[in-house]
Amino acid sequence: MLVSLGCLGAAVQVQAQTVTVDNMRLWSAPDHVRLVFDMSGPANANVFTLDNPDRVVIDLDSTDLDFDVDKLDLDDSAIDKVRTGVRESGGLRVVLDINRAVVPKSFTLPPNEQYSDRLVVDLVYPGASAVEDPIDPIEAMIRDQEIAAQRAQTEAVAQGNEEKADEMAAAVEAQPHPKRDIIIAVDPGHGGEDPGATGPNGTREKDVVLDIARKLKQRFDQTPGFKAFLTRDGDYYVGLRQRTLIARQQKADFFVSIHADAVRSSQPFGSSVYALSQSGATSETARWLAATENQSDLIGGVDGNLSLDDKDEVLRGVLLDLTMTATMNDSLATGGQVLDQLGRINKLHKSGVEQAGFVVLKSPDIPSLLVETGFISNPREEAQLRSSAHQAQLAQAIYAGIVAHFRQHPPPSSLLAWQRDQGRGGASNEYRVQSGDTLSQVAASHNISMKALKQANGLDSDILRVGQVLTIP
Ligand SMILES: [Zn+2]
Repeated sequence: MLVSLGCLGAAVQVQAQTVTVDNMRLWSAPDHVRLVFDMSGPANANVFTLDNPDRVVIDLDSTDLDFDVDKLDLDDSAIDKVRTGVRESGGLRVVLDINRAVVPKSFTLPPNEQYSDRLVVDLVYPGASAVEDPIDPIEAMIRDQEIAAQRAQTEAVAQGNEEKADEMAAAVEAQPHPKRDIIIAVDPGHGGEDPGATGPNGTREKDVVLDIARKLKQRFDQTPGFKAFLTRDGDYYVGLRQRTLIARQQKADFFVSIHADAVRSSQPFGSSVYALSQSGATSETARWLAATENQSDLIGGVDGNLSLDDKDEVLRGVLLDLTMTATMNDSLATGGQVLDQLGRINKLHKSGVEQAGFVVLKSPDIPSLLVETGFISNPREEAQLRSSAHQAQLAQAIYAGIVAHFRQHPPPSSLLAWQRDQGRGGASNEYRVQSGDTLSQVAASHNISMKALKQANGLDSDILRVGQVLTIP
């Protein structure tokens, strides 16, 4: 009797205090690796480093492990091996053997719709870039000077000092033309912890948008005068403000975020394009969608301090309002071009560019769009979004819309501006046909009619072959 009572007492005590690690997940990014512990209750952790050999130690009080750490895929991460043990004082010790310098950061997240209590351990790689092939420092310096000159010129115009503005424009023109690339930030939504929307057949938004984004980057990189980078190139989470911060660090001229919609009903379908609204969303859908897309940071896990990191920098600048309006007009104009292109290959959900308060669109000086490529909640469209051919068409349409905008309004120091100015001198532009191009898209992206393009090249059919060089009249 006494013995069994004693056992019961001990069991109750254990249940009240011990939590269990039920699962662990690892997400490897170019500049950090994230290790997530799914816990049966709130975690109490102590994270520190040891050297000789280099290790990161995670001590968890009153914690059991119910997960096989060998299941973690450590490829492309700073972690060589994960070892676990029971601490002398009780509780769990997790040791990470590491192969490069890391700065550990950890925080806990409360349960939400998808996950239980979590402990998140980020090992940040000092000095590593968040993007592959980051902007060259000299190129970045040229861009900074250009941005400063443009700002000063806008300021001079705003103050009515036209003489000064003319002087500055002349000074810029006197320098050798940089013929720089126009830089496009391609932002695949969600990732890692945050799967985004899920289709009726299990397709995850984070996967299809990454496929489309990679195809889109490739299209820009194949085009002389353009260079693109991905804000996320793998299955890991990037905070919403972090995405715009990366775009600023890489001196992007344009930011495009790729998503796929989901609603409760399986009926709605079609693509939509969003720009930032200054005050309130244009439609109820836009308002609702902004609320769900902005949830990502809560699901994906960004600790409070991190997500506010760039706030001061982003909000700095005396000409914020002026810049903001110009940026928004550029976003809306480009959005119209992208929507027009998407309408050629897919049904449109809304015929105009919608406006909503998406966090990723809030860069004051980088024109930005968010494209909802289709409804992953519609079984037919879900199947299309998985198809590589359809993904390529979506990428091509978004590409053609953005390129059309920049051909009309090239930044002064860009190769496109230089080409345009040469064109005025009599020389004509040429375009080399890429795989996936159609005659109508080439015409639209150069802002000319199909008829004019066919005439200039003596074409009697609409068929193009890859590598063919077209004269752009
Ligand atoms: Zn999304």
